[in-house]
Amino acid sequence: MTSFAETGLSAAALAAVERLGYESPTPVQERAIPLVLKGCDLIAAAKTGTGKTAAFSLPALDRTGRAARAKHPVVLVVTPTRELANQITEVCEAIASGDGRRVTCVVGGVAQGPQEQRLAKGTDVLIATPGRLLDLMGQKAVFLDDVEVLVLDEADRMLDMGFLPSVRRIVAATPESRQTLLFSATIDESVRRQVDELLRDPAVVQVAHKGETADTVDQYLCRVPKALRMDLLRAILDDYGSERVIVFVRTRRRADSACRKLKKWGFAAEPLHSDRSQNQRDRALRNFAQGKTDILVATDVLARGIDVDQVAYVVNFDLPAVPEDYVHRIGRTGRAGAEGFAVSFAIPET
Ligand code: AMP
Repeated sequence: MTSFAETGLSAAALAAVERLGYESPTPVQERAIPLVLKGCDLIAAAKTGTGKTAAFSLPALDRTGRAARAKHPVVLVVTPTRELANQITEVCEAIASGDGRRVTCVVGGVAQGPQEQRLAKGTDVLIATPGRLLDLMGQKAVFLDDVEVLVLDEADRMLDMGFLPSVRRIVAATPESRQTLLFSATIDESVRRQVDELLRDPAVVQVAHKGETADTVDQYLCRVPKALRMDLLRAILDDYGSERVIVFVRTRRRADSACRKLKKWGFAAEPLHSDRSQNQRDRALRNFAQGKTDILVATDVLARGIDVDQVAYVVNFDLPAVPEDYVHRIGRTGRAGAEGFAVSFAIPET
């Protein structure tokens, strides 16, 4: 694996990497950073959780300097949701904190006044959701004619949310000479067709597209008679450790009964499923995140909401019904380049 230094980032950017606490680049960072530094347009297929934010923020900020005119940022990131915008802003602020560049986030759903004031004072890096950005452009609170690097983040989601016309208008307000970086969880034919005109001869980086799993997760299949699954689970917990483990089951009843049994055996386990109140679910997740509960026994409904770092491994007590649920389930482990593994039980019936 290459190190951050080998990606070609400057000493200042490497200091930012250290501030962010990253040791080595994730696969998408390893491949995207050198291409962005070279000045290529880029299409990257990378989901949230792969380290994509730093994959574009580090080289984009490394290639650019301060804005020459106050309301004319040189880096623009367009992203579909407020949460993503905030997350990107945090990363950009950490990168820029060493050099005094100004990072501004403009999103809908909050008062516009403070955002206008901030823009009037000047910004080098702008992170925005499409609707609010268009409003501010209409009011001449911001101009995009100095943008050198344009990032379109979660492009597939922006398309799904009907933002394509807005994105087109935003892109049209930036100079043709810009560098465009497009990140998307998936890049299928329909996405390509809709975004191709926005990019110039882009390099393509494909890390984990739809249906593929994170490549840091080792996957095992155990054939086991139905009646012996609890015993196999116990043996795995005894052998591989019982801390930070998620067990996925098909039904709420099975989640409850497996938990009862695990507790009887002395494990700290808690169920997570849709029959529990929001409070109970929040508490279960918090306990798990804080290490008060070692094992979470969950149904698929909630698999997508579990965002806990460093899950040691995942057990598929029941196989999921559809492949995408499998990808989501085992995506809980091996996040951001950490090692992880997944064990799936296959009973004769499945
Ligand atoms: P993202 O895909 O950008 O949403 O990033 C997912 C998570 O991975 C975030 O919590 C980042 O802080 C973390 N992360 C990004 N790059 C690295 C890295 N090189 N090493 C460790 N963690 C990282």
